[in-house]
Formats: sequence, C-alpha cells, structure tokens
Amino acid sequence: MSLFGVLALQGDFREHLASLNELGKVAIAVRTPEELARVDALIIPGGESSVIDRLSRNYGLAEPIKERIAAGMPTYGSCAGMIMLADRLENPAVARDGAVQQTFGGIDMTVRRNAFGRQVDSFENHLDFNGVNLEAVFIRAPEAIEVGPQVEVISRVPGVEGDAQGRIVAVRQGNLLATSFHPEVSGNAAIHEFFINITRGDA
Ligand code: GLN
Repeated sequence: MSLFGVLALQGDFREHLASLNELGKVAIAVRTPEELARVDALIIPGGESSVIDRLSRNYGLAEPIKERIAAGMPTYGSCAGMIMLADRLENPAVARDGAVQQTFGGIDMTVRRNAFGRQVDSFENHLDFNGVNLEAVFIRAPEAIEVGPQVEVISRVPGVEGDAQGRIVAVRQGNLLATSFHPEVSGNAAIHEFFINITRGDA
C-alpha cells in the first residue's frame, strides 16, 4: 500500500494528514529528505508559498522534491502548494535581500499569487470538479493565468464580465494535481479521493 507524505514545514499540513486518514490512508509528515524518500506520494499544503520555498531550501528538501516530481511521484498542491508546483510565477515574492521566490515546478503553467484579493477577500464558491459539485474555500488564493498544452483544466470559477471561460482554479498534468482552493479545510473528500486515484493509476 502506498505511503502518503504531507510536506510539513509550514501551513495546514495537519488538515491534509487528517483528510488522508479519514479516507483510510497512512500518511506521515515530511520534514527531512529521509522522510521524503520513504513516501510514494506527496501533498504540499496551503500556507505561505514564499515561506515554504525558503524553508524547503534551508532543510535541503527543495532539490530532492524537484527530483521526485521529475521522476513521476504523484504530487498534489493546494493553494500555496499549487504555487509551489507552478513552472512560472507572475508575481513572485521578493525578499528584503532581493532574493526572488522560487518554486518546485512541474506543471506547465503561470500562476498569479493572491489573484482574488487579500485575506479579507477570502470567499467560498460552488464549482464543478470532475462532475462533483463542491463548495470550495478560497483564502488569498492563486489562479493559473496561462497553461501549457499538456495541462488539463479541471475547474474554473466565474470570471469578470466578458470573460466567458472563467478563471482556472484546478489543474492536472500527469501525476501532478493543483487546486487554488482548500478541500482540507472544507472537508470535501472528492479532491483527496481523486488524488488517491491518481496514485493508483486509476484517474
Ligand atoms: N497567498 C498565499 C501564498 O502566496 C497562499 C495562500 C494559501 O495557501 N491559503 O503562498
């Protein structure tokens, strides 16, 4: 049986661990390269992507995670995790020393951080995820503003007037899944179930 890992440097990793446990999956918190090496699949939680970026490099996890992603490890990122899986950021954070925020990458997309406004602009929205209608929680959420040909767009939310297509909030590329929203907060199991199916080769 697959061992799941949740990157536990910062953010709401406990909620993801609980979501996996509720679905009967064994999951461990990942904070070291040794723990990463044990897991078959990884979730990158919501939080603050610039902090996850910095800590993952400080803990020697950034390069091993990139290598595992390139080698096909199923990986799911929610919110800040979606940002970490983007090949490109439109508006990376820039630290006081001028260091520009980096990502692990893997999904051929450009992501805009905080695309829906600030913390006070957090909202919930009904959306379709592979035929499941669910209530999605957005907290300083990112948006994929451009995706490459290998990226499957799974969910959108209504855009501004004149934008008939809507804004991209869930994507998949091969074994990689990313959502702008937080199923680990809303308690809806559909996204974690879909990710588990990806790890089984059933989705
Ligand atoms: N805006 C945050 C970031 O840039 C993401 C917010 C979240 O994960 N809820 O990382």
